[in-house]
Order: sequence, then structure tokens, then C-alpha cells
Amino acid sequence: MPPPLITIAEARRRVLAATRPLGHELIAVTQALGRVLARDLTAAGDTPPFPCSAMDGYALAPGPAGRRLKVVGESRAGAPAERAPGDGEAIRISTGAAVPHGAVAVIRQEDVDADGELIHTRADTAPGENVRRPGEDMTAGTLVLRAGTTLQAAELGAAVAAGAGAVEVTLRPRVQVLCTGDELREPGASLEPGEIHNSNGPMLTALAAGCGAVTRPAQRLADDRAATERSLHGALAGADAVVLSGGVSVGPHDHVKPALAALGVEEVFWGVALQPGKPTWFGTRNGTLVFGLPGNPVSAFVTFALFARPALARLQGAVAAGRLEGTAVLSADVPRNPHRDQAIRVRLERRDHELVALPNGPQASHIVTSLIGADALALIPAGDGVLGAGTEIALEPLPGRC
Ligand code: AMP
Ligand code: MG
Repeated sequence: MPPPLITIAEARRRVLAATRPLGHELIAVTQALGRVLARDLTAAGDTPPFPCSAMDGYALAPGPAGRRLKVVGESRAGAPAERAPGDGEAIRISTGAAVPHGAVAVIRQEDVDADGELIHTRADTAPGENVRRPGEDMTAGTLVLRAGTTLQAAELGAAVAAGAGAVEVTLRPRVQVLCTGDELREPGASLEPGEIHNSNGPMLTALAAGCGAVTRPAQRLADDRAATERSLHGALAGADAVVLSGGVSVGPHDHVKPALAALGVEEVFWGVALQPGKPTWFGTRNGTLVFGLPGNPVSAFVTFALFARPALARLQGAVAAGRLEGTAVLSADVPRNPHRDQAIRVRLERRDHELVALPNGPQASHIVTSLIGADALALIPAGDGVLGAGTEIALEPLPGRC
């Protein structure tokens, strides 16, 4: 007898409650794309570190238009001028080059007429004009990035500007995907009657990798109790999370649950009031997370998004773990399921200042093409009749990053 179904929110709460962040390591910032900061990152010094020019032009004392100045040196990016300009003098300067002492302004080269070693200024120059002050971007000691931030391009740029050469990041979770099913064949293999391609293997492995996990190719498990137990035994030994597809229902060839029980994996829940994804199973053994996802590809994808993805984020200490993001209004009536919430795949369009969710074609759990081009999952609460067009619904972003 299956236990009563729990809600999506309760299932997610139990997953997160069972998930402990992994340890840390220090790595080169150049290797840190996609990693999660384990400690706050503060600026080592001021950025910019010195007064520098915002323009190509001439460094000079402030003053009115119509001056005639002698160019007595040059300050290039990376090669400051050797002397400061005196009275009646200017220094040729490039964008980003150090502004010499005594010259507190820069006039753009478009605003002068150059004549050999002389320039004639055609614009007034105010104190500080076209000069970037030290620390305008960051001052030494200021908090630049918080622990839990995922390092993408912008964050990497800021970390390097802040002076970081190495960053303390959390460990990447090791994830092994196991696909159960005698009917499964490798991608591209010719199929005998009754066989299908193992689409969940590469799909779930890619989802895990997209969440920052270290993955190995998915393994296929025959629908056989002993073989299931053997493969699971190996996978549990080398992974922080094991993601299974198929074999978690109540059919005579569903061996995952008894095999997990025999291996000491403790069940946390089995059965979520969710369509697609009802038979989702979750358990743990010594901190290793085990997700038993349903075999239908859409169910596997949706339940990975709702339950495994927040867990992988939490393992990495990512701050966005478990967040439900945003709302939209339904473009069309959607039939409700009386007993289960539905996670339908939608495309999002902005219309008249409203974000509109359009169901992305047929929604059955074997229609893998319903995932293509979808922007989000829209959560349709259980109930009778239809949820009408125009109703506001909660969105769950589809995985791309955690
Ligand atoms: P199961 O959960 O094992 O009862 O499988 C439910 C449905 O999903 C069946 O139609 C399976 O053939 C299909 N299925 C199971 N595993 C996979 C897989 N790895 N790739 C594609 N379809 C699958
Ligand atoms: Mg099966």
C-alpha cells in the first residue's frame, strides 16, 4: 500500500532538510566558472587602484578654454609618465593610464588642436574632469561577493578586479545517474520490438552537470533485483547523490525500492501529489542522497527540477536553493487534477506589461518534446474543473543553472 502523497513543498522541505553542504577547496579564480563561493569575498585593495584617465587626451591643471600648453611627456596604460606637468604644460594620456601628480584633470583629445609639441585647448576643464578616482568601483575591505554566490562571468570579473587570485569554493557534488529498464538501448542503437532509447540517461546527467555536479555517463540497470542491488552498491560508494530513473512504481519488475532498502538507504518519502511525478522516491544513506525518479522522461525532468536541483544547490551552499520564482497569468484554461498539483511546461511571453504563460503543447508525461522551448514550469494547484485563463500561477524556472 503506497503511503499518502505529500505536497511538492513538503517533499522539497524534506529533501533540503536531509541535505548538508559539502566541504570547501581553494582553487584558481580562472578555474572557478560555475562554482559557489564558500566565503565572503572582499576587495584586497582599491579599484581602480590609482587615479586614472577615463579618456584619451591630455592630463593638465584645470582651467579655461583657449590655453596654449606644451606636451612634455606621456602616460600610457601600464606605463605612467615619468614627471608631472608644470605650469603651461600637459601630459599626453591614454584611457586607463595613471594621471600624474599635479594634473587633476584630463581634457579629451577631441577638445584640443594639436600642433607639434603644443596643444590649444578648445574647452574649459574642471577639477577632476575625466579622472576616475581610486576606489570608485571598490574600496579595500568592502564586501564584493557573498558566500553562496555562484561565480558566473560577471562575478569572476568582479572577483579578479577585487584582487582575488584564488577563491574558496564549495566542492562539486558527484552525481551518478542510473537508468532502470530492460527496454533501454544506447543512443542511436537500432531497436527490436518493445525497446526504446535511453533518453533519461544523457538528459538527467546533463541536468546534473548543469547544476554544477561532477558526472560520469549514466549506467543502465536491468530489471533484475540482484543486478539492481549490485549497481546501486557501486554507485552509492562513489557519489554524493544517486539519481535513478524508472523502477520506483509498484509493478512486478520495479526493484529499486527493495534494493535500496537492502543497501541501508532510508526512505524519506515515496509519493508526491504531483503530476507528472507521483511515484517520486527520496532517501539517504550516510549523507548520500538518493532520488528515485519516475521513468517517463517528462516526469524525470520535472521531478529533477523540483527536488534534485535544489538539493544540488544546497550541497554546494548556493543561496538560491529551493526558491520558487515569480508568477505569470495563464493564457488558456487548464484542466485541473482533482488530487495532485500539476507542473506544466510553459512558454513565457510579455503582453501589455503582463507575463503570460502559454502551455507548451500536449502535457502527457511521455511527450518529451513538451520540454523543448519551454521557459518554465507553471504550477497548477489540484482542484476541480479548469483553472481559467488569466489566473495567476506560480512559476518554477526550468534548469539551466541552479
Ligand atoms: P517505469 O517508471 O520504469 O515504470 O517507466 C515508465 C515509463 O518510462 C516506461 O514507458 C518506460 O519505458 C519509460 N522509461 C523508463 N526509463 C526510461 C529512460 N531511461 N528513457 C526513456 N524512457 C524511459
Ligand atoms: Mg521500468
